[in-house]
Amino acid sequence: QCLGYGVLVRIAVIGCGYLGAVHAACMADLGHDVVGVDLDPGRIAALAAGRAPFHEPGFPELLGRALSSGRLTFTTDLEEAARVRVFFLCVGTPQLPGSNAADLSFVDDAVRSVAALVAASGRTAVVVGKSTVPVGTAARLAPLVEAVGATLIWNPEFLREGYAVRDTLTPNRIVYGLPDGEDGAAAQEILDDVYADQLRRQIPRLTTDYATAELVKVAANSFLATKISFINAMAEICELTGADVTQLAGAIGMDDRIGKKFLQAGIGFGGGCLPKDIRAFTARAEELGAHESVGFLREVDKINLRRRDRVVDLAKQVLGERLVGARVAVLGAAFKPHSDDLRDSPAVDIATRLQGLGADVVVTDPAALPLLARLHPALSQAEQAEDALRDADLVVLATEWREYVVMDPYDAAELVRTPVVIDGRNVLNPARWRRAGWTYLGLGRP
Ligand code: NAD
Repeated sequence: QCLGYGVLVRIAVIGCGYLGAVHAACMADLGHDVVGVDLDPGRIAALAAGRAPFHEPGFPELLGRALSSGRLTFTTDLEEAARVRVFFLCVGTPQLPGSNAADLSFVDDAVRSVAALVAASGRTAVVVGKSTVPVGTAARLAPLVEAVGATLIWNPEFLREGYAVRDTLTPNRIVYGLPDGEDGAAAQEILDDVYADQLRRQIPRLTTDYATAELVKVAANSFLATKISFINAMAEICELTGADVTQLAGAIGMDDRIGKKFLQAGIGFGGGCLPKDIRAFTARAEELGAHESVGFLREVDKINLRRRDRVVDLAKQVLGERLVGARVAVLGAAFKPHSDDLRDSPAVDIATRLQGLGADVVVTDPAALPLLARLHPALSQAEQAEDALRDADLVVLATEWREYVVMDPYDAAELVRTPVVIDGRNVLNPARWRRAGWTYLGLGRP
């Protein structure tokens, strides 16, 4: 709450999705004057009224506090940001339909609009890109920004959904991709004012060129995705040999060169970042002629998608002919717990495919049902896990929300018609579930 030595900065955050809305509220919490801008009037109305448009722990409280301080406003009209010193670009960079590449049209449009506003205002400004972009994007956009006397910094964001507030206020590191020379130095000084609180707390700040900053983000996500697919490939080998991937992961993770994190075998990664980021990186590397350098990432993606196939195959194996019309309870819809994000969610993919095979699928999730109803109206849903479980012939644990992990297998057995569970996240205790009468099927576990 205390800025220490920094100067208060007028900030605009362009794009108020999962990243931008949290960033805007956090910057206001640090004492800056912030206007959040988005094209979506519904989203802006919700944020302005203090309603979080998505599930993110701690965000509603932060938003309420920032709004009542008077330091945070929201608008659909970029003109209201005319007197701003720092523009953060937080717009989406989704996968282009029919391609692996990123759709940069939102970033390009946002930069053009901001440049026009800065030109009209005649003031100096710093434009700070936070969106995840293919390497080379900042160098391509910098001339547009410099033409109006502003400077572009690329400052990739590393926050995790579910921990977005904490990660924004206390990141592991802050990276600035800067242009050479005086303009870069002056712009850096202004961004240092914005992050004065973090810098005072000794959070490392690394300055690089544009290309390195862009690559830090995609390289980090590629590494994380690779770690998950590595252990999932080991799960495939475990399935052929009777070995147990959870014991294997525990044992290799004790080597601190490897580490325990991100070695949880299961139905793999999803969400609005890892899948599209590794694909966009692959596409960009191919454009650069580095086809072979990213060959492993194509495998990472394939392994990840194969784990979803595995669950569908297990369902076919256990239910056989009975799959058509069988009631299947899918526990979890979000791509991970503590989030309602359904983008590229393995849970939704599996539920949709089982439904496509004729099963009577019912999905439950503690946070994502409103979004599920909007985006996947064909999937039946149950508010409570007990209602999803009632009369089920098969249970698929797809998202490791705590309430599913701690579920009592004896109680659950009383609700279902046939006690068969596929533990898509390897979070249940197989021995306990079997003792309670269940047929337990894990991924990479005997
Ligand atoms: P999102 O789709 O939730 O939000 C993007 C928002 O930008 C939308 O609300 C959209 O209406 C708005 N928008 C688009 N064009 C605009 C314009 N010209 N002016 C104003 N608003 C505009 O996406 P997100 O998850 O917040 O991700 C944004 C970027 O941040 C992506 O590049 C993503 O890869 C990156 N990122 C996301 C996360 C995350 O956990 N979600 C973490 C790190 C980085």
